[in-house]
Amino acid sequence: MVEIKTDASLDAMRVAGRVVADALAAARAAAAPGVRLCELDEVARTVLREAGATSPFLGYRPSFASTPFPAVICASVNDAIVHGIPDGYRLSDGDLVSIDCGAVVEGWAGDAAVSFCVGTARPEDVRLMDVTRRALEAGIAAAVPGARIGDISHAIGSVGRAAGYGIPEDFGGHGIGRRMHEDPPVPNDGRPGRGLVLRQGMALAIEPMLLAGGRNAYYVAEDGWTLRTSDGSRAAHFEHTVAITEDGPRVLTMP
Ligand code: MG
Ligand code: MG
Repeated sequence: MVEIKTDASLDAMRVAGRVVADALAAARAAAAPGVRLCELDEVARTVLREAGATSPFLGYRPSFASTPFPAVICASVNDAIVHGIPDGYRLSDGDLVSIDCGAVVEGWAGDAAVSFCVGTARPEDVRLMDVTRRALEAGIAAAVPGARIGDISHAIGSVGRAAGYGIPEDFGGHGIGRRMHEDPPVPNDGRPGRGLVLRQGMALAIEPMLLAGGRNAYYVAEDGWTLRTSDGSRAAHFEHTVAITEDGPRVLTMP
């Protein structure tokens, strides 16, 4: 079932989305060589707490996970694609970090992610991040009434494939509302003109993740959560929560 939200509900989701944006900005600002990932989680926890928000990540346990998620952000470094646990790892110069964060305010959820480099970025990482951001922008631009889920997927996948990057098939975007993960799934590649027709009032988390190595091979690390590239190549991940409206895509997690 794909829930259609009222304008008031979308406004409520925007409140949660702004908290997510604030938490991501704060975590990013705190990231520097020598800083531990768990410190970034602490920063995000403070933002959520002070905003009166709860975390849909903390304690989350989907079917694939053997343990509940222990933090309010995912912190995925270098070859980690998504779902990294913010542990005691200390960031070093040139690390490519992807931070994913969610928040729930007054029963409505927001979900977004950013990637950035700590210290001096390698040119190939800058390109990977730029292309992934462009894939997100292309996906958002396709999120209009009357289009289909496949149009979003195709827009994302076209950008990623043209750059020669790999696209994980088993992980992608999703509907979002009172719960962080709702129907429909929003794959990061697909055929245009296929799938569910988009309507005013739908809300989707659109989240391309691209793999520099160009292959679609990855594995779940020993912690049961972190998704890593099989070839050790780096990955980038960007995400926004987006509402479908008659006025065009409304990005609910914009800073
Ligand atoms: Mg997310
Ligand atoms: Mg998401």
